[in-house]
Amino acid sequence: TLKEKSQRLTPQDTQSLLDSVDAFLFDCDGVIWKGDSLIDGVSDTLDFLRSMGKKLVFVTNNSTKSRRQYAKKFHSVGISVSEDEIFSSSFAAAMYLKVNKFPKEKKVYVIGEEGILEELELAGFTPLGGPEDGKKTANMKRNSFFEHDKNVGAVVVGLDQYINFYKLQYGTLCIRENPGCLFIATNRDAVGNLTDLQEWPGAGCMVAAICGTTQKDPIVVGKPSTFLMDFLLEKFNIPTSKMCMVGDRLDTDILFGQNSGCRTLLVFSGVTKESDLQDPLNQIHPEYMTTTLSDILYLPNN
Ligand code: PLP
Ligand code: CA
Repeated sequence: TLKEKSQRLTPQDTQSLLDSVDAFLFDCDGVIWKGDSLIDGVSDTLDFLRSMGKKLVFVTNNSTKSRRQYAKKFHSVGISVSEDEIFSSSFAAAMYLKVNKFPKEKKVYVIGEEGILEELELAGFTPLGGPEDGKKTANMKRNSFFEHDKNVGAVVVGLDQYINFYKLQYGTLCIRENPGCLFIATNRDAVGNLTDLQEWPGAGCMVAAICGTTQKDPIVVGKPSTFLMDFLLEKFNIPTSKMCMVGDRLDTDILFGQNSGCRTLLVFSGVTKESDLQDPLNQIHPEYMTTTLSDILYLPNN
């Protein structure tokens, strides 16, 4: 029989977490909401944590929105969150280029949506592609030649509902014909709760397509990469040992928490089932697990 490696969160565990943690880091899809529907009890739980003086941070791999668009989404579901509490993989892509001094005169080809374009522009970069190129078709007639901008120095790939053959060819040529071209993935999630009733393909399949054509591995900037943690530390100045990462995915959220030295709590309101933890192939075990975020509201009576 397999020994349980993660503990079911008890009221006592919650109390000890509240006593020792200064910042709660939340994954969004599957923890806060599913698609556009808020998960039951989330609003009360966040209010409770704020009233305890805890810092709340939101770390999402969904690159389709910018931080500004996420703040709007939070507002629309009745939760007050400011842009600087949000760390999205779209922001991570822009910050990766900034930190690595990507030349402003070069361009960035985007297989992805509006969020990536907005964050790149805010950081002073020039994006090409995005939803706009979803309308284009690759001309494959005899004697036609597919042209691409030779000034592209980076290709950023995230979730793209409008991915097509044109974008695949564009991104592929940028990388294959310029050995110095960066290949950046916002994240590699297999699936996500794009809507509340069902899972949909995640960015992992768009990234895999470009890996396939280029035979290159991307630089991943979203979870489980700890790249965003540096920005979080700079903003909040709290040691990672006093942070708790709450997520619904083992290979992104929990691994991100563990790789950065945070406490970890897995919730079953998203893509992971309790039986997934018992899978002999699974190597990732959170410190605690619980059904849903609002379980944090149950404290020991004393
Ligand atoms: N990317 C996309 C497109 C998604 O739909 C989702 C979840 O629904 C994710 C990423 C994962 O986002 P998060 O890190 O907030 O769970
Ligand atoms: Ca999630």
